[in-house]
Amino acid sequence: MKNIILFGPPGSGKGTQAVKLAEAFGLVHISTGDLFRYEMKNKTPLGQKAKAYMEKGQLVPDEVTIGMLNNKVESHPQANGFIFDGFPRTVAQAKALDEMLAAKGHSINALIALDVPDEEIVKRILLRGKTSGRPDDNDESVIRKRIDVYKSQTQPVYDYYDQNCKSHTILGMGSIEEIFGRLSELFREVLV
Ligand code: ADP
Repeated sequence: MKNIILFGPPGSGKGTQAVKLAEAFGLVHISTGDLFRYEMKNKTPLGQKAKAYMEKGQLVPDEVTIGMLNNKVESHPQANGFIFDGFPRTVAQAKALDEMLAAKGHSINALIALDVPDEEIVKRILLRGKTSGRPDDNDESVIRKRIDVYKSQTQPVYDYYDQNCKSHTILGMGSIEEIFGRLSELFREVLV
């Protein structure tokens, strides 16, 4: 089984690229943000819990997120592998993911970070907010909070996987196809 973490700040294009990469490489795409939004839409207890954090640009607590992610992975016993998008977002989540995969005899092959400057991120998310219907995309202070949270709580996950030389960075600027081309090339290298 091959497992890739697609990493990068909010609005860096992880979701867009993960859908294309999952299709091209036969992997299952799991986005924790999408899972939380699905739970919210259906007003489940999990969704209601997550809502309060998401609206403020904060992370949903690890135990909630890790439990949801484990259930999702378990629901795909036949998968060739996974692209994790928006997870892990803390070192505790990364350790939980490694343990869960190790228990199945698997591991993370690579973490690939999309590099996009802060000002471009704010512009992209505000633009997305016009059509996404996401309250967290419409408020610049919430967007800046998400960027701060990324830097303080999520960026350390890059260094965590870098200790095993598994972390890579790809330029996340340019057209969707250009970025997809760069990512595909790296996927071919790390999936062998
Ligand atoms: P973006 O990458 O644009 O911020 P996401 O859809 O990945 O969008 O995440 C939206 C929100 O969902 C986050 O701001 C956070 O509140 C919550 N969330 C998503 N994934 C996680 C996670 N792994 N851990 C904690 N909270 C998460």
